[in-house]
Amino acid sequence: MFYDYFNEEDFKELCGYEIDGRWYPRVTKIIDIKSKPALYRFYGEAASYNAAKEITENSAKEGTLIHEVVEKLMVGENPEIPDEIKPAIQGYLNFIENKNIHVDKEYVEKRIFHTEHRYAGTIDTLALIDGKFGVLDIKTSQAIYRDYNLQTSAYVEALLSELPSLETRWILRIDQVKKCFRCGGTMRPKGGRNKIRKGKSVLCKEEEHQWSDLTGVTEMQEFPFWKEDFQAFLGAKKLWEWENSYWLKRIGYIN
Ligand SMILES: [Zn+2]
Repeated sequence: MFYDYFNEEDFKELCGYEIDGRWYPRVTKIIDIKSKPALYRFYGEAASYNAAKEITENSAKEGTLIHEVVEKLMVGENPEIPDEIKPAIQGYLNFIENKNIHVDKEYVEKRIFHTEHRYAGTIDTLALIDGKFGVLDIKTSQAIYRDYNLQTSAYVEALLSELPSLETRWILRIDQVKKCFRCGGTMRPKGGRNKIRKGKSVLCKEEEHQWSDLTGVTEMQEFPFWKEDFQAFLGAKKLWEWENSYWLKRIGYIN
């Protein structure tokens, strides 16, 4: 919306990247156009708007921290690992050691763009896993959501002209939870929310859980078919352009 930005420069800065003298909107910004019912429910159930906002922000901070440390590990650095995310990072290290995952250091945090469809983004990395070559995206959410497929399909399509051997994409989810010894439930303290989810048996009463220490949770899912997701991404992009047409016309991105 036009009132969200001060001027053209502000819009360009907040919504995209300048690459080789051309401006491209960011994939994650474009995808923001899609509604997020789970987020509305979370806000609705929270004590107040500000309380929900604080949890979301703290949670994002923790996610960013995990992301940064994992990326440093991926390029072979030996970063200091803050205590509060040690379980998640240890979980990740165990996972990587047990799987046949080779990360391409050249592509960690690499800026990518699509000249024909005119969008850009930053990938987490490319990887070779069990002989397949693809885009690997890291998430620190409590689950792997289908929405991620829009984002990664855009990355794959942007890279294909340069890397025609790309054949798939994965989401690698890194998180940390406490587990209840009695009921198998899990508690996720991320952001200060203490979200409890049921395990295999009935949840204990609130005071009766016996929580473990925080432990890392790492899971990986492959999403080999991206064409349909990419069509949906282009649809989202069209809608995003419509919503932002005031600014996009002013900067000459659309007529
Ligand atoms: Zn329990």
